[in-house]
Amino acid sequence: MDQCIFCKIGAGEIPSARVLEDSSAFAFLDIGPLAEGHVLLIPKAHFATLDQMPADAAAGLMRHLPALVRAVQAATGCQGVNVLQNNGAAAHQAVGHVHFHIIPRNAGDAFQFNWPAGKYPPGRADQLAGAIRSKP
Ligand code: AMP
Ligand code: ZN
Repeated sequence: MDQCIFCKIGAGEIPSARVLEDSSAFAFLDIGPLAEGHVLLIPKAHFATLDQMPADAAAGLMRHLPALVRAVQAATGCQGVNVLQNNGAAAHQAVGHVHFHIIPRNAGDAFQFNWPAGKYPPGRADQLAGAIRSKP
């Protein structure tokens, strides 16, 4: 993707604060951090959204998450970490190249979720689980 900013970062054509790199994955500091040490993990190959990634490519990317979380915790001393993957504009995806956010968290910090937990009416959970099961 010629115009994709994360393709260019992964290829080293645009500077970034690099954290980790292998043949297919690249991690770097988010330029607009929600907290100091906020890291982005991307595949070097262009995929717009997670659902477009073959399982092997996704596995090759996500295998880095445990070590990245440990490294961010160790480097920042944070109390917790959110791993976040915004998938699609409605889910707050601004850059159309798959990326995982690794966000350091501390009690009382400024990053807040609105988490409006709902409740299923009788039968609806089984119906939905069946619908999702039938479309792997
Ligand atoms: P999202 O809303 O999940 O698409 O998040 C995109 C993230 O990319 C934002 O947190 C931006 O701050 C970050 N970002 C955009 N451009 C750059 C860049 N050149 N270097 C580092 N991070 C970037
Ligand atoms: Zn790209």
